[in-house]
Amino acid sequence: VINPTAQLEIRGDAIMRDLDALAAFSEPGPGVTRMAWSAELRAANDWLSDRMTELGMSVEVDPAGNLFGRWLIGTGKPVLVGSHLDSVPHGGRFDGPLGVISALHAVAALQAAGIDPVRPIWLVSWTDEEGPRFGTGLLGSRAFAGKDVSGLAERKDASGVTLSEAMRGFGLDYGRITAARAIDAVGDYLELHIEQGPRLQDAGIDIGIVTGVVGLISFDVLLTGQTNHSGTTPMNGRRDAMCAAARIALAIREQALARPGVVANVGAIQVAPGASNVIPGRADLVVEMRAANRKTWESIPEIVRTTVEQAAASEGVQVSCHERHRLEPADFDDRLVAVLEQAAGLEGASATRLFSGAGHDGMSLAAKVPVSMLFVPSVGGVSHSPDEYTEPEACAIGARVLARALGFLTGADERS
Ligand SMILES: [Zn+2]
Repeated sequence: VINPTAQLEIRGDAIMRDLDALAAFSEPGPGVTRMAWSAELRAANDWLSDRMTELGMSVEVDPAGNLFGRWLIGTGKPVLVGSHLDSVPHGGRFDGPLGVISALHAVAALQAAGIDPVRPIWLVSWTDEEGPRFGTGLLGSRAFAGKDVSGLAERKDASGVTLSEAMRGFGLDYGRITAARAIDAVGDYLELHIEQGPRLQDAGIDIGIVTGVVGLISFDVLLTGQTNHSGTTPMNGRRDAMCAAARIALAIREQALARPGVVANVGAIQVAPGASNVIPGRADLVVEMRAANRKTWESIPEIVRTTVEQAAASEGVQVSCHERHRLEPADFDDRLVAVLEQAAGLEGASATRLFSGAGHDGMSLAAKVPVSMLFVPSVGGVSHSPDEYTEPEACAIGARVLARALGFLTGADERS
């Protein structure tokens, strides 16, 4: 274990300078736009490669485009640490880059303190975490974990470029993407990320230690009522699909409010025929519910079906409800959670356990290797926006806790 008195020197202003440097690799316009497989991402990768090389790390891009820097020291399975450098369109400068830069500073701090890990540390920048360009979120980490990433080659972006063409621009072959599978080589995975919500800031807590990521299930709901003249049809006895949809939106909110750790959303709705003087005979909507607890997550289909059927019945409309998409909750690792808590304690940082409501690369890995994450406060809870911000000192505290945790996990001793 690292001598608890060893100082791990990481400065907030140095982290901010690196975030600024990366933010410059962006398409024009507000905020940061650095899409997967873009020239901007390539420039950011080059910047990171240089920084990792300066730290004596061995740099490699895998067949999925994930960028690794390996501190080849000690023996046994490495601790993998990192995040992603791709962004959403007009996103912020913290979501992703802060985790990569924190890992970089953590490695530098361990080296500067004269600490020799007994296991290797690998730094990773995952490819295409956000996924908006090709509808392929967590692509790099899924390929690394050996998950199914087949059938995506011909997906096109908004300008008609296919994923396989985009990868070719990076010197990579989509046909070889399964060769990126290397999860079995890894011992543990840690990631620092901004919270993307207001809980830490509201509570005045430095560090959120993530015990899992919520699962979600979404449904396509079709409501079929009766189209008719809105002036001549009596109010009694109408079969209005829009009114049933409105009841569903309110009822599903009540269902979520009644259960701790559950959120729900009706984020898309279309009514037909869609005229001011016609009673809507049809409504298509998407209902999504997320739950942290696995048992509650398993009960989502029952909750949604019952809610939807009751709302439809009370408006006299027919309903069909089909599952659209499901993402299992990811359970993070108790030992890594304890390590992060201990690391926070040693750095004098206040910490609390929480679930992540947003998806992260750790979800791809959690079934195969122990995973945990630490969150730092997002000012105003804002993310995926140019207004994303985390205070420099909050970034530095997070990076020091990460460095301390890496020290614990690699059984590092101070050089004598
Ligand atoms: Zn992110």
